[in-house]
Amino acid sequence: MKLLLDATRCQGYGLCQEQAPELVDIDEWGYAKVLALTVPAGAEDTARACAESCPNAALRVER
Ligand code: SF4
Repeated sequence: MKLLLDATRCQGYGLCQEQAPELVDIDEWGYAKVLALTVPAGAEDTARACAESCPNAALRVER
């Protein structure tokens, strides 16, 4: 599974990082930065919740 970010949609709300600090960080400008493009085994549910938490649909998971 991959966690993909469309940076053009990110508005810097930070909700994704609150959901999954091990998968997403916030850069110095407040925008999301995916730490683990390939979701580690066992973190699939966290990745889905992370993607769903984004109000701008900037994150998605893909098999
Ligand atoms: S929740 Fe969405 S808009 Fe907010 S920082 Fe994360 S990716 Fe960006």
